[in-house]
Amino acid sequence: MAKTTNKPKKPAAKSSKQHTNTTKKPDKADIERERLSSLINSMADGVIAIDSDGKVVITNGAALDILDSNVSISGKSIYRILHLVDQSRQKVDLRKVIKNIKGTHSTRDWLIQYSDGSEVNLYLSIAQVRLGYGKDTEHMHGYVLLLRDITREKSLEEERDEFISVVSHELRTPIAISEGNISNAVFLFKRSGINDPVVENALEQAHEQITFLSGMMNDLATLSRAERGKLNVEVEAINAHELVNQLVSTYQNDAKDKGIELKCELDPHLELLHSSKLYVKEVLQNFITNSIKYTEKGSVTIGAKSRENGVEFFVRDTGIGIGKSDREKVFDKFFRSEDYRTRQNSGTGLGLYVTMKLAKLLHAEIDLESQLNHGSTFTVYVPNLEPAGAPDKTA
Ligand code: ADP
Repeated sequence: MAKTTNKPKKPAAKSSKQHTNTTKKPDKADIERERLSSLINSMADGVIAIDSDGKVVITNGAALDILDSNVSISGKSIYRILHLVDQSRQKVDLRKVIKNIKGTHSTRDWLIQYSDGSEVNLYLSIAQVRLGYGKDTEHMHGYVLLLRDITREKSLEEERDEFISVVSHELRTPIAISEGNISNAVFLFKRSGINDPVVENALEQAHEQITFLSGMMNDLATLSRAERGKLNVEVEAINAHELVNQLVSTYQNDAKDKGIELKCELDPHLELLHSSKLYVKEVLQNFITNSIKYTEKGSVTIGAKSRENGVEFFVRDTGIGIGKSDREKVFDKFFRSEDYRTRQNSGTGLGLYVTMKLAKLLHAEIDLESQLNHGSTFTVYVPNLEPAGAPDKTA
């Protein structure tokens, strides 16, 4: 592979002709090289291109800033100059990461450690590239690393998470008390036999809103704990049959109120699943409440099938469905479809984001199949975990 640097090209040895003030017209390759060099150097993010052995072939000034180096790093091994650690300060094996890359790998979870012990939070993206063309394709590829110092962003995120955590914690008790009292009031009013549609309507609306608020607080509390890495996976034996049946009976009334049928499809050969019951249940609850919310007629089916070293749960509905472009975004934080039928229902856009966080903790895989106006199927494969929370090595 041809070695390239973005340093300004050294002037060629001067010939007698050059003394006579005739400048050599730059050829096309020179112009292209200059253009690439100034483009890379004007980037605010650090750029480092390495060859397949990890040797630096292109860098820019921003990369040197991030690496805190004032000497050229061209030709040096990236593994010697970029020292990365993860959030728990464990060394990141960059060589292994790069070896396993297929396409692009990006992360906001690593820090760069300097020789004096100081650290900087990093956004790092590593993409596989072809640095040349030719017959020797084996050695032609390299990688481009994009580096950005995100220390300030991270500390703002931490402050925000801290705020959400305190607020959701402080509001939890008053909301729970209000919810209990309003439910009681609705019940007492119905039992009193008083016929006052205005009071009845006011109570029902208060109940609906406080239930929404309580759900939102729960989502925010789980979200903040997940983002602060405060969620612990407590592995226990889960009877998937029992879990699905429980969920069906919990949501039977909600489905009935909307005129939807709630069905159950269970594989008779299900074995005990070893995972966190709390989080598996929360993931399924999020799918089920959404399916009921976004289905006007037809049915919602909850099911479980046996899969190698785990169980695959699914929630299928005949609801409004999710269009192609929205399918890519439904797991994003605060995303809600613009579809008017979505907006007719209250929601925060946090449910599926939290669901994805929980699934990651469980090493579970989520899949979504949907067709607009025909319905959606959310599937989650939950593997058996060892008590420590790592996937079973027998997998
Ligand atoms: P929300 O509080 O808005 O329901 P979620 O994060 O749970 O937030 O879902 C994000 C968005 O994904 C929803 O606003 C909706 O547009 C879409 N969505 C989720 N589940 C379904 C479903 N079963 N059918 C149709 N749309 C869905």
